[in-house]
Amino acid sequence: MNNSKNQRPRLIVKDRFIESQTPLLTRDSLAQMLPQSLAEGAILELVDRKGKYAGTAYYGIQNKGIGWILSDNPRREIDLGFFESKLANAFQKRVSFLRDSRTNCFRVFNGEGDGIGGLTIDYYDAHFLVSYYSQGIYHFREDVRQAILKVAECRSIVEKRRFGDDQDGVVVYGESPESFVCYENKIPVGVDLIHGGMTGIFLDQREVRHFIRTELGKIKRMLNLFSYSALFSLFAIKGGVPYTCSVDLAPRSHELAAENFERNGISAKAHSLVCSDVFDFLKETQEKFDLVVVDPPSFSTSSGKAFSTSSHYGDLIEAVKNVSTQDATIILSTNNATISREKFRGIAETHLKILREFGLPADFRTHRNMPESNYLKVLVCKKK
Ligand code: SAH
Repeated sequence: MNNSKNQRPRLIVKDRFIESQTPLLTRDSLAQMLPQSLAEGAILELVDRKGKYAGTAYYGIQNKGIGWILSDNPRREIDLGFFESKLANAFQKRVSFLRDSRTNCFRVFNGEGDGIGGLTIDYYDAHFLVSYYSQGIYHFREDVRQAILKVAECRSIVEKRRFGDDQDGVVVYGESPESFVCYENKIPVGVDLIHGGMTGIFLDQREVRHFIRTELGKIKRMLNLFSYSALFSLFAIKGGVPYTCSVDLAPRSHELAAENFERNGISAKAHSLVCSDVFDFLKETQEKFDLVVVDPPSFSTSSGKAFSTSSHYGDLIEAVKNVSTQDATIILSTNNATISREKFRGIAETHLKILREFGLPADFRTHRNMPESNYLKVLVCKKK
């Protein structure tokens, strides 16, 4: 494919799209039919109806749209030099993270927030996890690999294709152990970049874990719902909480949790790892908790019923209230980008009062014209 700036396919976009200054190209942005011959990874010259240049984009189909603007300079080549400069700029913005000896896992490149939508790069103790969200951006994988090697000290590069069915990581440079330990605020956590879509730690919840460990005061009993590797529980225990109960459907989640407890010298016997559907657990348990963390996936099916954040979060909150003490702290989280911050606050405020709010941490840079790219919404609440 020839991506030279002289031979780029031209695509007419609507004035409304140009005025919005969003980097995300959707079918609705176009003022013409999409040419059938277009292959993912093609570099497009966007123009207005009069033929005036409006941006340089790549074509790549992902859940959000059909491509991303890469440059507003018609003369800019999209080549290795382009990727190098974007990555160098992104790394420069994470210097404080790279220098922080307490934490060695964070995001170094966050899609459109760093100038290339559909591409994220996470740093795990100099092992780089690169996620591609469309075949279109995956087309540039060789440039991305070379750019990482040019601008960073790198032990290995692992790639995940987030657009297909197989989310396993593939080592494409160096040697990456199947699993290893990283540190977040000096606390060791298990990481696996190879198997499945998740890595053992959701880097975007770092500030919430820190809050749970350092700012909650005296808590006696914590309930962690949709607990996965139980890092919220781990950080609570490190903050002095004597008893935690972590609930997740997947037995594998609890294996990871037990390993995290063990590497932190915590006896798993003093805590509960419950393999159950959260909704069944909430109906059946007789226990009461004074801290509850609720972090469901955006969509899940449980006991044959579908859970969606917008329709069922309110019911979930009511069920959580029933197992909480009167003065309990209830932390509600969602990473569902299709629900606005206002809407999520509205759901929470119907049932609880909000004391504090978290979004994405600074390493997850967002794009100023895409409020929805700050997808993480975490609310610290109390009963009314
Ligand atoms: N809170 C976690 C991340 C949760 S990921 C953290 O911060 O690390 C979502 C988890 O929910 C997965 O581990 C999945 O197994 C679990 N899950 C999904 N649906 C569930 C259900 N109905 N009941 C219990 N667990 C569920």
